[in-house]
Amino acid sequence: MTEAATEVDAVVVGAGFSGLYMLHRLRGLGLSVRVLERADGVGGTWFWNRYPGARCDIESTDYAYSFSEDLVRDFQWSERYAAQPEILRYLEHVADRFDLRRDIEFGTRVVTADFDDEASRWTLVTDGGARYRARFCVMATGCLSSVREPDVPGLERFEGTWLLTGRWPDGVDLTGRRVAVVGTGSTGIQAIPVIARQAERLYVFQRTPNYSVPARNRRLTDAEAEELRRGFADRRRLACASAAGMPVEAPDRSALAIPPAELAELFEAGWERGGIDALSHAATDIVTEEAANRIAQEFARAKIRAIVRDPAVAERLCPRHFIGTKRTCVDTDYYDTFNRDNVELIDARTDPIEEITADGVRTGSAFYAVDTIVFALGFDAMTGALRDIAIRGAGGVELRERWAAGPRTVLGLAVAGFPNMFLVTGPGSPSVLSNMAVSIEQHVDFIAAAIAYLDTNGFDRIEATEAAEAAWVTHVNDLADATLYPATASWYTGANVPGKPRVFMPYVGGCGPFRRACDEVAAHGYEGFALS
Ligand code: FAD
Ligand code: NAP
Repeated sequence: MTEAATEVDAVVVGAGFSGLYMLHRLRGLGLSVRVLERADGVGGTWFWNRYPGARCDIESTDYAYSFSEDLVRDFQWSERYAAQPEILRYLEHVADRFDLRRDIEFGTRVVTADFDDEASRWTLVTDGGARYRARFCVMATGCLSSVREPDVPGLERFEGTWLLTGRWPDGVDLTGRRVAVVGTGSTGIQAIPVIARQAERLYVFQRTPNYSVPARNRRLTDAEAEELRRGFADRRRLACASAAGMPVEAPDRSALAIPPAELAELFEAGWERGGIDALSHAATDIVTEEAANRIAQEFARAKIRAIVRDPAVAERLCPRHFIGTKRTCVDTDYYDTFNRDNVELIDARTDPIEEITADGVRTGSAFYAVDTIVFALGFDAMTGALRDIAIRGAGGVELRERWAAGPRTVLGLAVAGFPNMFLVTGPGSPSVLSNMAVSIEQHVDFIAAAIAYLDTNGFDRIEATEAAEAAWVTHVNDLADATLYPATASWYTGANVPGKPRVFMPYVGGCGPFRRACDEVAAHGYEGFALS
C-alpha cells in the first residue's frame, strides 16, 4: 500500500547553506515546509567533507550568511580560513538559533519528484518510501555534492582501507600509515600537506597538475575579529556588487597595459597576501586574454620551481592549462610538501594506475605498497545531484532528458516545463565561480520574493518560459565564449565525468551583474516566467 503523503506548502531538498536559509525564509512567509536531507545532520558540503585539511578558500568572515545581524555579531571565526569542523559548527549553530531542525528529515534521500499538472502539486518520494506533496519544490541539492567514486580494477580485493574525501568518516588516524592519495584538485591539495605530516610514507598520484596559491591562513585575534564584524555590512555590500562575491574593488587595467615590472610586483603582492584572487586580481583580463594569462602562468610556474627543490618534481607539478580556467586551489604548504623525504609524486598521466592489489597500487611501471588509499576524485558538478533524482515536470518530461545535451535554465533558478520548482545555484548562475554564501543568499531571496509575489497577486503557479530559457542559455554561452574558460577541460565544462555533455555551465558575468538581471526580472513582474 502506498504511504499517504505528508502535505506541506513547500519541500526543500538539502540542508546545507542553501536549504537551511531557504527553510528560514519560507517559514518567514508563513509557509509550512519540510526539508529532506540525505545526511544525518545539517551542513551539506561541510557535513560530508571531513578530510584532513578541509577548510574554506573564501575568507570565513565573508563565507557566511548576512541575513541576520545578530548572527554576524554572535559568531566569531577563529581563523582567516576556518577549518571544516568550525564551518560545520557554524551551520549547526544557525540550525539551532533559528530552530530549523524541527522541519528537517535527516537520513532521507529523495529518489523521485513528480509534478501533477492538474493539481499543480509536486510529489517527492524518498528512499524509505515516504511521500511528500507540496505546491513548491526547491532543489537545494548542491553543486558539489554528487561524489565521484573510483572505478579502478581490483579495489574490491584491497585489504587496507580506502576512503573518499567527500564521504570522510570521523575517527580516521593516518599516523604511521603508508598512504596513497589519488587526485590533486582543491581537495587533494588541501589534504596532501596534512596527510604528509601524519603518514609514514605518502604517494601522490597526480594526473593533471593544478595551479595553487598560498592561503596565508592565520588565527584571527579578538580585535581583528571584532573589526571584521563591525565592517561586515560594508564588506558584504561590496561583495554583492563584485564579480566573485568577494569584498574587493575590481582591477581596472589590462595586464598588457601594465608595465612588466609593475605587473610582477602586483603578482608578488598577491602571492604574499594570499587567497584565491592572489593573481587574478592584478588585472582585468587574466581569464579573457591569452597573452595576459600566459604572464600569470609563468609567474605561478616560477613560484613552483622556486619552492620545490628537485627540478624534475617541480616540472611535474607545473600546470600548463590557462590559469584560472579551472578553480584555482588555495593551499597551506602544498608545494613545499614535495620537499619532504616521506613524499613521492607519481605522474599518473604517463604512468597510469592499472590496478589495486590486496596490498597496494600498481601502475604501468611500478608497485606502491600502501595501507590506505584516499580518493579525491571530485564531483559530478552542478547537475549530478539533480540527475540523481528522477525529476518529472509537466507532462511527465524528465529533467535528465531535457538536459541530455546539457543543462538549460533561466538564471540558473528555474527550468521551462517544471512549474513551481526552483534550483538554488543551478547551472547558468554564478554559483561555483563566486563566494557561494553570497550567491546562495541572493538566490534564496529571489525564490522567496517570487513565491511572496505569487501569493500577493493571486497566482498559483510560476514557470520559466521556453523563450526566456533559450535567451538565457545563449547569453551564458556568449559570455563564456568571450573568455578562456571553455578552452580548458574542467568540471565547469563537465569534462571530468565520462559521457557528460561538454557545456560550460556557470555564468561568468559576475555576481553584481547577475543580481541586477534578477532584480530586473522581478521588477518587471517576473519577466521570462509565465504566472497563472
Ligand atoms: P551542499 O552543501 O552541497 O548541500 C546539499 C545537500 O543536499 C547535501 O547535504 C546533500 O546530502 C543533500 N542532497 C543532495 N541530493 C539529495 C537527495 N536526493 N535527497 C536528499 N538530500 C540530498 N564554496 C565557497 O564559496 N567557498 C569555499 O571556500 C568553498 N569550499 C568548499 C570546499 C569543499 C570541500 C567543497 C566540496 C565545496 C566548497 N565550496 C566552497 C562549495 C560549497 O559546496 C558551497 O559553498 C556550499 O556549501 C553549498 O551549499 P548548498 O547547500 O548549496 O549545497
Ligand atoms: P577536482 O578539482 O575535480 O579534482 C579531482 C582530481 O582527481 C583531479 O586531480 C583529477 O585529475 C583527479 N582524478 C579524477 N579521476 C581520476 C582517476 N580516475 N585517476 C586519477 N586521477 C583522477 O575535485 P576536488 O578537488 O574535489 O575539487 C572540486 C571543487 O570543490 C573545487 O574546484 C572547489 O570548487 C571545491 N573545493 C574547494 C575547496 C576549498 O579550498 N575550499 C576544497 C575542496 C574542494 P584530472 O584533472 O586529470 O581529471
